[in-house]
Amino acid sequence: MSMLPDSHGRFGPYGGRYVPETLMPALLELEAEYAKVKKDRRFQADLAYYLKQYVGRPTSLYRADRLTKKLGGAKIYLKREDLCHTGAHKINNAIGQVLLAMRMKKRRIIAETGAGQHGVATATAAAMFGLECEVYMGTEDMQRQALNVYRMRLLGATVTGVDAGSRTLKDAISEAMRDWTTNVRTTHYILGSVLGAHPYPMMIRDFQAIIGKEARKQILAAEGKLPNYLVACVGGGSNSIGLFHAFLRDPKVKMIGVEAGGSGIVSGKHAARFSGGKPGVLQGTMTYLLQDENGQINLTHSVSAGLDYAAVGPEHSLYHDQGRIEYTYATDTEAMSAFDLLAREEGIVPALESAHAIAEVVKLAPKLKKSQLIIANLSGRGDKDVQQVAKMRGVEL
Ligand SMILES: *Cc1c(COP(=O)(O)O)cnc(C)c1O
Repeated sequence: MSMLPDSHGRFGPYGGRYVPETLMPALLELEAEYAKVKKDRRFQADLAYYLKQYVGRPTSLYRADRLTKKLGGAKIYLKREDLCHTGAHKINNAIGQVLLAMRMKKRRIIAETGAGQHGVATATAAAMFGLECEVYMGTEDMQRQALNVYRMRLLGATVTGVDAGSRTLKDAISEAMRDWTTNVRTTHYILGSVLGAHPYPMMIRDFQAIIGKEARKQILAAEGKLPNYLVACVGGGSNSIGLFHAFLRDPKVKMIGVEAGGSGIVSGKHAARFSGGKPGVLQGTMTYLLQDENGQINLTHSVSAGLDYAAVGPEHSLYHDQGRIEYTYATDTEAMSAFDLLAREEGIVPALESAHAIAEVVKLAPKLKKSQLIIANLSGRGDKDVQQVAKMRGVEL
């Protein structure tokens, strides 16, 4: 399983490289360079240094006693990616790719962003290494996430609005791919999740797999046994595969990925690809997509911008079909109550994305024995969402 993808970048029937010819040289160069640094001790030592001293790794594996008691079942641990510098797991990937860009002597970084979190992580890593950074963002998202737009500008990045299509993440990715095609000699494109053409889904998984490697050691030290369940939210799928990967070969460890159920599956207003989608090709990869009968991409909806995308990482599609990972969803309402619950019971305000994972823990834990263990990935902190939640509740700040 850990040998995947194959040499064509395929996870079973999924993944691959569905791109125009003009993008092939860039992807082949990236694939070759990544294969080198993967085995390069100097590169790995540099990466480890920045993850420790700049990002703050290892993040803690926190035993949530009050949440455990409240739910009355399995013992719950939280993997605290919210404690990473910039407030989420995305920085793990951004640092890895910026180091790689410098190896390739590319001094210009581009990225796309929806909620702004990946843009902030990329602008941060670029600033730290003194690289030029341009972030593409749909103009609709720029309005919704004005604070993150300003944050990226503070970090020295240029934020470029994309006024095409639905003016959201999908359109920003297309624009970033166009830029990359034109400027590939000087520019590296940092994708934010385990999406896009090979080698991105593999490479980003590898950069995020540190989450699960740490969690595995930490739970063995704390409990002397592996967890019964891992739970994580699934947008593109990077924080979840990051946690799950180190446990894939432990058949007794069950894994649950939680997608955005939005206003409910029947409403059509959601981003639950495994509940309402089917395989197709989008932005370079073959995977489960939300599309209509003509293959047109559906508009998605979630209270949480980071889960609001029509495609899911191709590796997830394979594990879904194999039944290795179970995929479920949490609705906006369920995520909002989990958001409140974690704040009040544990003093942790989670990102709305991560609140989807907590919502699943709320359903799961009471059904399990007290001797059983759950690790939930707290992919990010909720500071970025406080204003939105207040507004949704009609609270004036
Ligand atoms: C971006 C984001 C996500 C969703 O992305 P994945 O690639 O699925 O991890 C989840 N949580 C937080 C806090 C995010 O910023």
